This record gives sequence, structure tokens and C-alpha cells, in this order.
Amino acid sequence: MFVEFQHLSLEVNFWNEVFNLFKFFLNKVDNILLINSKLYLKRMTLKQNLIGLNLGDLEKIVIEFSEPKFRAKQIFEGLYQKRYSKLEQFSNLSKKFLSELSENYEIKFLEVNKHLKSKDGTEKFTFFVGEEKEVEAVWIPVGDEERKTICISSQVGCTLSCAFCATGRLDFKGNLKPSEIIGQVLKVEELVSDKATNIVFMGMGEPMHNYNSVIKSAHILHDKDAFNLGAKRITISTAGVVTGIEKFIENKEPFNFAISLNHSDKEKRKTIMNVDEKFPLETLLLAARNFTKTLGRKITFEYVMIPEINMGTENAKKLVKIARSVNCKINLIPVNTDFHGWRRPTDEEVEIFKSQIKESNVPIMNRRSPGKEINGACGMLALS
Ligand code: SAH
Repeated sequence: MFVEFQHLSLEVNFWNEVFNLFKFFLNKVDNILLINSKLYLKRMTLKQNLIGLNLGDLEKIVIEFSEPKFRAKQIFEGLYQKRYSKLEQFSNLSKKFLSELSENYEIKFLEVNKHLKSKDGTEKFTFFVGEEKEVEAVWIPVGDEERKTICISSQVGCTLSCAFCATGRLDFKGNLKPSEIIGQVLKVEELVSDKATNIVFMGMGEPMHNYNSVIKSAHILHDKDAFNLGAKRITISTAGVVTGIEKFIENKEPFNFAISLNHSDKEKRKTIMNVDEKFPLETLLLAARNFTKTLGRKITFEYVMIPEINMGTENAKKLVKIARSVNCKINLIPVNTDFHGWRRPTDEEVEIFKSQIKESNVPIMNRRSPGKEINGACGMLALS
């Protein structure tokens, strides 16, 4: 009996050892090749980027390493408040923990492919985000206002094809991960040696089609222990994906919200925005009213002005009617692209249109759209 027990325990230990060895191998080695009777062990797994993880994710990681929970907060602050770019910078973490962590995790900033500077101070960046995938972000400083905005992308290309937008002409290649969304902010800030005061999700893509990653990133940007940007300094814009707007309302998200209205006529809006086929203007306006009622704040309507398409007295009247029915403000943007032979409205045309919609009594803003000479202005992000 005794012998048997001994034998068993020996066996258990033996198999435990084998199992541990196997686990060690699995951890370290991703590919085992036998070439000319030689064994090659190759590590292929990429380490996980800590950028893009929120406090909850980091807590799970530190627990795995049997570290106290507060370590997660230290990593969170290091990443997003102190903007560390290397694990070695975490002087508040032990060497042992850092070395264990570095086996599977890293801090990886985005790689910049192109960097263009415009005379008006705007800078455009093209980043690699995986094989044959690139996205753009734009740094927009407004000197006299001390406002420094980064316009970031949420997708590689876009599945929508708004007729006036250059991004819609690119092939859609996928959603960006939080590491790539937050990564744009970190890398732009590093390259301009400055910090953003405002973030707009108005780059490439439709934020509501990448809802979870966009909202997760927005919360990291907002968190007081991270980027600490006020919720009103983070604007998320949609072409009118009503299901996303409803989710945003349901979750009572605190961020600024903008809808790219772009036409006030329910039939003609479809001709320039194909999203209107699925979510017609009436449904979109219902969602906008629900937004302002439930969340108790204004919504922004963006309106890209295209002469002969969506300007003129009739369209202005319809826009006034819409504006009166929703607690909103209106952002007017002269069109920046010349597809279909379109032209930018003259300053005079813009003023006329503005005066026509003034009677709605809602705040109307003329959106500056800097960065045209580097194709960095609204609707011009198409990797050129
Ligand atoms: N898909 C989202 C976010 C990206 S576009 C959305 O549609 O809201 C960001 C803003 O730029 C939108 O308001 C859009 O209407 C505007 N825009 C697109 N193309 C433009 C162009 N050619 N000129 C001026 N503004 C444009």
C-alpha cells in the first residue's frame, strides 16, 4: 500500500513536472519546426499592447501576477497621465514584476508613415495599423483660443459612402482597436511635443460602427487619472447610425455628440448619404429628440454646405424647421471636396445661408476647416 502510494506520488510529481514544462513551452514558443533533424523554436506571438486597456483590464492582469490591485492604477496613470512609452519608466513597480510583465506585455506606440505640415499650423499624420492598413489623424491648434484639437479615426476606411467624403471612396479594411485609437492621440502628442485640449472622432470611419472601442477609448481620454479631458471636450460624430445613437443614450454617455445632418430634405438626403436608406431622416430626428430629452443637453448638427445641392431658401427653411424641433446647435462647414464638379460656397453664399437659418434661434457656428493644403480638412482624409 505504502509502496503504491509512493509510486503514485512519484508519478503525480513526474506528470506535474511534464505539465509545467509543457506550459512553459506553450508560453514561450509559438512555432516548433523540425528542419534537417534540428529543432527550431520560434516565438511568434506579439506581446499585448498595454495601450488601450482600461483600469478593469489592467486589474485583471495584475491579479494574474499576484500583485495587489492598486498596481493597476499605477500602470493606468503611467500610461495615460504620464504618457510613458517604455515599461522601464515605471519606477514605482518592482524590477521583478516589470520583467515578468514584459514577457507578455509591452507599450507600443503607433508607427508614423507620413507627417505633413500646413501653413495654418495644422499637421496631418498617417499611421500604420497592421499590414497594408493606414489611418490618419490631424493636429489642429487654434492659437488665440488655446484650443488644440486632435481629430482621430475610428476605422480603416468606411463602409458608408457619403458622396462628398473622400474617406468613403477608400476600401473598408476594418475597425480600429482601442490601442490604435488612443495610440493616435499618444503619438500625435509625442510628435508635436504638446498635449491636446480637445478630441474629435471625426477622422476616417463611422464611430457608431465601432461603438465599443470608440466608447472605451473616450472613457480613457475622459478619466481623471488618465488623459483627464472633460466630457465636453470629447466629441463623437455620426453620419446618422440610429442604433448607435440609441445605445449612446441608453448608456447615458457624457460626451459631446454630433450628427452629420448635411441635408434638410428627407428625399434628397438619401442622394448624398447612403446611411439615410437604412436610417431615414425622420427616424434620425426622433433619435436626436430622444437624445436631448433623455440626456438633457444639446446635440450638434453638422451641415456640409454644397452649393446647388443642399443650400438655398427651400433647404434653409427645412433646416429651420428641424432646428426648431430639436434642442440643437448647428455647425456649418463649407464642402472641401470637388467630386461631381461641386464647388465650395463663396463667403457671401455662406453668409446668406447663415442668415436664412438664423430665425431658428439656435446657435450657429461656422466651422473652420483648416489643413486643406495637406488634405487634412474635414472629409479629405483618404491617405493622400
Ligand atoms: N462618419 C462620421 C465622422 C467622420 S466625418 C460622420 O459622418 O459624422 C466628420 C465630419 O466631416 C462630418 O460632419 C462630415 O459630414 C464632414 N465632412 C465629410 N466630408 C466633408 C467634406 N468634403 N467637406 C467638409 N466636411 C466634410
